[in-house]
Amino acid sequence: MKPVQDIFPFLNQPKRVVITTHQKPDADAMGSSLALGHFLRQFGHTVSIISPTNWAGWVNWMPGAKDVLDYEKDKQKADGLLNEAEWLFCLDFNIFHRTKTMTEKLKEITCTKILIDHHQEPDVESFTYGTSDTSKSSTCEMVYDFIVDSGHSDKINEEIGECIYAGVVGDTGSFRFSSAHAGVHSLVADLKSRGLDHGKIHEGLFDNFLENRLRFVGHILLHRMEIFYEYNTALIAIPKSDLLKYHIKTGDTEGLVNFPQTIQGIKLVALVIDRDEERKWSFRSKGAFDCNTFARKYFEGGGHYNAAGGRSNDTLEQTVEKFKQAMKENESLLQ
Ligand code: 5GP
Ligand code: MN
Repeated sequence: MKPVQDIFPFLNQPKRVVITTHQKPDADAMGSSLALGHFLRQFGHTVSIISPTNWAGWVNWMPGAKDVLDYEKDKQKADGLLNEAEWLFCLDFNIFHRTKTMTEKLKEITCTKILIDHHQEPDVESFTYGTSDTSKSSTCEMVYDFIVDSGHSDKINEEIGECIYAGVVGDTGSFRFSSAHAGVHSLVADLKSRGLDHGKIHEGLFDNFLENRLRFVGHILLHRMEIFYEYNTALIAIPKSDLLKYHIKTGDTEGLVNFPQTIQGIKLVALVIDRDEERKWSFRSKGAFDCNTFARKYFEGGGHYNAAGGRSNDTLEQTVEKFKQAMKENESLLQ
């Protein structure tokens, strides 16, 4: 994988570009894809953004989100665009299988593939150019760096600023994680000096749910959360019946994993949701507990040190049992 800076000389040669990101894109995945799209279009590139799956309704306020293609819904059109693409940007993921049903297509096409990502263990062999940096708060920060390093910061307009800020807020837990280093605050200062209305973005991200979602949160915290004080661990297991009862849609469960972290002393939070196709895990830790290693070892997953995810084909009951076993095996790391 050659350095991403090597493509800067070609930025002003218009191309057919596809930008894609991980399944169920969150604020960082969607924000970075849209921001890069808004940037590249200013050079005359023809840019399409393809999400492997649908996304949360509260992402739709982002400028340009309505034009994003959902691969599962629009496969034929998306395959056509991928076949024709000269540049493929892969943002906020670093291994093709995180795009689920798009995986084979991404492997098959032979265009120039460019990675911009901040997760661990990138599949560098699969990319022509790229940047992979786990010290970055978010892929949005990396897209901002890409724009500034290319010498085109004058192209940072209102749309780009809003998308980048949303992803940075999302991935830094509103600037509380250690990943919110000084450079992140400088980035925000720069966006503010360019006229960013940050309050609007916080409303878009956090005050944009329906009543059923808040009642669902109440139900989950009351009935589905277990605390294991001897392991400083909290577990939330959500059965499918709860999702149906409260009409839960993609994105409604975002942020749930953070609630148990408000309890004094909790070091690890695990959340599992009984989705149609698999049991999906989220892990969050405080301090010295490596969620990435844990998710890789027990739940075919990965991510970052303090935030990772995983999956399982077991039933909800089986995978919860496996988690409890894993928690016991890791007792010394959880003290
Ligand atoms: P979340 O719990 O918010 O879904 O994910 C937390 C972090 O772990 C994110 O950075 C996400 O990209 C990553 N992640 C989530 N699920 C998986 C997975 O199944 N595999 C890998 N490698 N990373 C994941
Ligand atoms: Mn990210």
